[in-house]
Amino acid sequence: MGAGPAGLTVGNILRAAGVDCVVLETESRQFVETRPRAGVIEEWAVRGLRERGLGENLAARAEPHSVCEFRFAGERFRFDYHELTGRHHYVYPQPLLVTDLLREYADVRGGDIRFEVRDVMLHDLETDRPAVSYLDPRTGQRHVLRCEFVAGCDGARGVTRDAIPDGRVRVARRDYGVAWLALLAEAPPSSDCVVFGVHPDGFAGHMARSPEVTRYYLQCPPGDDPENWSHDRVWDELRERLGAAGAPPLTEGRLIEKRVLDMHDYVVEPMVYGRLFLAGDAGHLTAPIAAKGMNLALHDAFLLGDAITAHATEGDDAGLEGYSHACLRRVWDYQEFSQFLSGIYHGTASGDPFLAGTTLARLRRLFTSRAAATAFAEQYLGTAAAF
Ligand SMILES: Cc1cc2nc3c(=O)[nH]c(=O)nc-3n(C[C@H](O)[C@H](O)[C@H](O)COP(=O)(O)OP(=O)(O)OC[C@H]3O[C@@H](n4cnc5c(N)ncnc54)[C@H](O)[C@@H]3O)c2cc1C
Repeated sequence: MGAGPAGLTVGNILRAAGVDCVVLETESRQFVETRPRAGVIEEWAVRGLRERGLGENLAARAEPHSVCEFRFAGERFRFDYHELTGRHHYVYPQPLLVTDLLREYADVRGGDIRFEVRDVMLHDLETDRPAVSYLDPRTGQRHVLRCEFVAGCDGARGVTRDAIPDGRVRVARRDYGVAWLALLAEAPPSSDCVVFGVHPDGFAGHMARSPEVTRYYLQCPPGDDPENWSHDRVWDELRERLGAAGAPPLTEGRLIEKRVLDMHDYVVEPMVYGRLFLAGDAGHLTAPIAAKGMNLALHDAFLLGDAITAHATEGDDAGLEGYSHACLRRVWDYQEFSQFLSGIYHGTASGDPFLAGTTLARLRRLFTSRAAATAFAEQYLGTAAAF
């Protein structure tokens, strides 16, 4: 269920192993191939895609990044995580990855994918023959697919999580009480790296997406209306919050995306109910604060695709039995980092002078203590040896 990074990766793994599967998607192919979202992919995720024959384009085109920059108290602080750890991560826009995965699944591996399905429902999940049904928008007919497993990869707004009866899983939530105005500007990047502006007026972020397009973020009140943010107001605030001595000026451009995202997280435990296995945002949402959501979706998808393959080809159920536990260890670690980063990004704008003081102390420590910096870099890159 779902043709995002998680669903398409599971589908590709199953196709490669000759395991029958169908991917259902409520949107059109064109829509999913152009939906802008993530950009940062971690090294292990790139390796995992390549090992499964899914990372060729990415390896050729993704840009390795090794430095980011914090701007606070009117100054610039370069954070060279490559120098600290010998590792880096990649920037590859999510629409490109989804396009690669879709092409491989549908056009190369001959996978069955049905777009623009309507009114999707799940049935008999607690039996060993669950089913998924949907309305075909062209004929108005309801189709029923009987299967062995349902992979719930339908994102934060899908239906699979809600198909689990009350009380069968625990949903843990965290609301940060802030929102980000997520912007895409038709403008070349204004810095050679990701920039985090920590400012008393609120957080601001700069992230290259391509030579022509740059993502920016501006902290704003939860539920704010993007229409409150005119072109001039956006660029004035970005200049103010990302301003620092010696910083190059921002290159202004037309805003082609302007959305308000409330910053909240959730985790579903366990990520399994009967024959339904949740993967990606369907099972856990990580606010874009730490740029981890797509990485977690890929991690789940590797584990789930491999586990179903082992079940189908060798009768080995160890992967399926350990699936939720194996996913959740990394999920909780990344959620903890997201919470920590939220403190750093939003503390100085909290209106609480005590919190503002401790936030700046935390930030300064990254540039005065190699131990603190190395620990931060490891979480930033997702490179811990174990979770
Ligand atoms: C602005 C922004 C920036 C981000 N930046 C980063 C980043 O830099 N790094 C990072 O790792 N993550 C980032 N993320 C998070 C990342 O985009 C998500 O975590 C990722 O898309 C999750 O993949 P997924 O496959 O689980 O879900 P999705 O990509 O949401 O895919 C789910 C699919 O299911 C479909 N669907 C929904 N309902 C149904 C249904 N009933 N039946 C069938 N299909 C259905 C949807 O249309 C969708 O195509 C960002 C997110 C946002 C919003």
